[in-house]
Formats: sequence, structure tokens, C-alpha cells
Amino acid sequence: MMLDVIVIGGGVSGLATAHNLMRQGLDVQLLERQVRTGGNAISQRFQGFLMEHGPTTFNASLPAAVQHLSDLDLLADARDLGAGVKRRYLLDAGKLSGISTHPLGFFRSDYLSVKGRLSMLLEGLRPRKRGGAEETIHAFASRRFGREFADKVIDPMAAGLFMGDAKRLSISGAFGRLAEMEQEFGSITRGVLVAKRGSEPGRHLYSWQGGMATVPTRLAGMLGERIKTGVTVLGLQKTAQGFLVKTTQGTRQARAVVVAAQPHVAAGLLEKLDPEGATALQEIMAPPISVVFFGYRHEQVAHPLDGLGFLTTKSDSRIISGAQFASTMYAGRAPKGHVAISAYAGGMRNPALVKLPDEALIAQVRQELSQILGITGAPVVTRLRRWSLGLPQYSLGHENRRAVLGGTHDRVEGLFLMGNYLDGVSVASCLDCADRVGAEAGAFLMQALNAKASVFQCLA
Ligand SMILES: Cc1cc2nc3c(=O)[nH]c(=O)nc-3n(C[C@H](O)[C@H](O)[C@H](O)COP(=O)(O)OP(=O)(O)OC[C@H]3O[C@@H](n4cnc5c(N)ncnc54)[C@H](O)[C@@H]3O)c2cc1C
Repeated sequence: MMLDVIVIGGGVSGLATAHNLMRQGLDVQLLERQVRTGGNAISQRFQGFLMEHGPTTFNASLPAAVQHLSDLDLLADARDLGAGVKRRYLLDAGKLSGISTHPLGFFRSDYLSVKGRLSMLLEGLRPRKRGGAEETIHAFASRRFGREFADKVIDPMAAGLFMGDAKRLSISGAFGRLAEMEQEFGSITRGVLVAKRGSEPGRHLYSWQGGMATVPTRLAGMLGERIKTGVTVLGLQKTAQGFLVKTTQGTRQARAVVVAAQPHVAAGLLEKLDPEGATALQEIMAPPISVVFFGYRHEQVAHPLDGLGFLTTKSDSRIISGAQFASTMYAGRAPKGHVAISAYAGGMRNPALVKLPDEALIAQVRQELSQILGITGAPVVTRLRRWSLGLPQYSLGHENRRAVLGGTHDRVEGLFLMGNYLDGVSVASCLDCADRVGAEAGAFLMQALNAKASVFQCLA
């Protein structure tokens, strides 16, 4: 049987693309290697705690993201951050500084030196960059806000959001909106102020009672029997009609294929069909990440946990790059009288951590966390999740890679790439990207099906 389209990979990217194609009335099948869908969006409940193995928040700051939630009927049940989130914490030189989430928070705190704060203030007066080579996040932030801000604020942010290195990540790839603001408004400060006054809603980070897995679970429910789990795609072959998709459970045929698996898997599948695309995919780094989840009794933790969590600067040289105060962020993450904390380690800062055995890794993270937050005694629960290939890095060269990967369909008709390495790593970006790729694949299929119908009409 010839399907219209096969989607490979049942993470948020694949599910959302398949859902988009289904809504266009196309005959779609999604193949997922594992027995469950959702990819790295795993929310696990145990002993009254809820652990997020992957994503913890849905960035609903953009109108398009809110529209997605509404389309999936997930808006009414979404929960915003809890009222307990009052500060952002940064750890530098062994000192944890709480900075108010107020826009003037950095000016009111002594986290940055007076010179560093003055340099931030001058951002609005600095000229915009004209042309030139692709810039790193660190170079961009140094140029606009000063070196201290780049080292003590942007570098921890890069490690927190991407588990990346600010000196390697591309500003246009990782924070494209900031690069656009500089060109549009001449200054990031002005751009942010205009956005605040305009239609863009404030910062909203959503989740659900059942955690972030609620999003892929809803998509999977809508796709129903179009999903086949426990099926690994082994290879792709182009034919006159479309593609032969070789799997662990036989060969399937489809007019079009959307590869929504991780970049290294996509690279393997494209190796013979599209060597140019495969090479670009192989260049994408995705360093390992470890998530260590702890539950404590409330009285064991001296720190008030009155924030999202904390991020560490590179010079602080611990293995933890940050932690989230999960039970402050959202209600229902820990049983009554308890708190939940998730710590993150690895990424571009510490790729070698992958070699540290589980027990040693947990012990070191626990010891660091106890020292930073004033925790006494053993945790009530401990869980470790290791991602051998964590988040894709939008490192320098992303613009070129993105252009090459966007041209896959031009080189191999009917073949489309989709994933968190294209237009943003966040779940919200994946939903946006799925709409774009779904529309492109849908347009190709409609054209192919119409052409076929015309041939039949001529023959009749
Ligand atoms: C620790 C961590 C924290 C994060 N925190 C956040 C956050 O707070 N907010 C946020 O918005 N985002 C966050 N993210 C990012 C976000 O979760 C991901 O970018 C997004 O879920 C990726 O979805 P995906 O479908 O592109 O990839 P994946 O989830 O990796 O899915 C790919 C799927 O393809 C399947 N597959 C692979 N090979 C094959 C094959 N040969 N045949 C069939 N199937 C195959 C895999 O089994 C997998 O299910 C986080 C990610 C991690 C790892």
C-alpha cells in the first residue's frame, strides 16, 4: 500500500508534523523506534513527586505558541509559573546572588560591578553592527552590554538554555530575535521596551498537572492508529513514485517522507540520498546531558527556593551548570511538606561527565547542591536521567547549515527534514517548525496528487 507520507520519529517534532499533515486530510503514518511516543518529553510520577526527564516549561511568550496550545485544546489547563518565583539566582565565585525578576533587577543588585552595570546602561547608545561575519552569543553580548555581563549573565544562560557554550553558539541561530532587535531598533533595550508596550504578551512559562508530556500525549491521542511504535527505520530508498522505507518490521511505501529523528539518525538515513544534507547534519553537536532529580523534606533545605532555580558561571567550575526549583515553579511537583529540585550537568561545559559512573555523578551533584542550598541529610528520592545526545548546538555556521538543510526537498523531491536543530530547540519552536514543514510537505503532496488525478482524467 502506498501511503501519502511517512513521518520518522515520534517526539514532539514528528507528532506535531504528522498532526498537521493529518489535518490536511493526508494519509499519514508515524513510525517511532521506542514503545512510547514523546521523545525526550518524559514526565514521570513516583511517590507523589513529578520528575521531568526532558523539557520542564513551555515558552508561551509568543502569540503563535499560544495559538498552538489553543488548537490542541491545552490552553485552559495550562499553569503559569507559581507566585513563589520571585528571583533569578546566579552562582559566581561561590556566592549565590538573588536578582529580582523586575526589569531593573540587575541594577538594584551588586551581582555586577558598578562598571559592569554602567556598561549595561550604555547599551542603548552603542551603534548597531553593520554586516560582518556571524557572531557568537558571547561576542554579541560583550559588544552590546559589556564583557562582564557576557561572562556573568549570558554565559550561564547559554549553559542553562542550551547546555551550550556562549563562545561557540551563534547569536542568529540561538537568539535570532535579539539579533533582529539590534537591526530593527538599534538597541536591545529599546527593542525589549517596545515589545513590552506592544502586542507581545509578557513572559509566560507554562506546564500542566501531568507535566510537559501532556503536549505529546495530546498529539498522540489525536493521531491514534496512525502511529506505529516499536518500529525502527533502517533506511530510505528513492523510487519513481516516492520512497521505500525499510524498517525492523518490513518495508513501507510513501510518496513523501518527513525525517523527524535526531540529527545523527537523520544523517545516517540521508547518507546515500542526500550526502550534502547528511554532512550538514553530522556537523551538529549534541553533547550529553544528565538530569538529577532530588526530593527532600522541606525542613532539610535552608534556602527559601524562591525562584526558578540557579545558573552557574563557567569560572565557578562545578559540574552543576544549573538547577530548577521544580516544586516552586509549579504546584503538585512534590508531596505536602516536601520540595523537588532538578540539577543539570554535562553539556558543552562538561562533555567528559559522560564517563562518570551513575553513583559518582549523583554523589557529586548532591554534594554541590547541598553546599549551595544548605541542604542537610539524605534526599527522600533520587532519580538520574542521562541523555547521551542532549540538545543540538546552534553553533557558528548554523546559518549555512540551516540553508543546506532547508534545501533537502530541492535535492531529493518529497524528502523533508524536521527537528529541534532547525528553528529552535524549545517545544514551542518545534510546534512552529512542524507547521512550516507540514505546509511544505502538504503542498508538495497536493501537487503530486493533483497531477496524478489529471493523468487519470486524460486517460478516461
Ligand atoms: C534535559 C532537557 C531539558 C529541556 N528543557 C526544555 C524546556 O524546559 N523547554 C523546552 O521548550 N524545551 C526543552 N528541551 C528541548 C525539547 O524538549 C526538545 O527540543 C524537543 O522535545 C525535541 O523534540 P524532537 O521531536 O525534535 O526530538 P526527540 O524528542 O529527540 O524525538 C526524536 C524521536 O525520534 C525517534 N527515533 C530516532 N531514531 C529513529 C528511527 N530510526 N526510527 C524511528 N524513530 C526514531 C526517537 O526514539 C525519538 O522519539 C529540553 C531538552 C532536554 C533534553
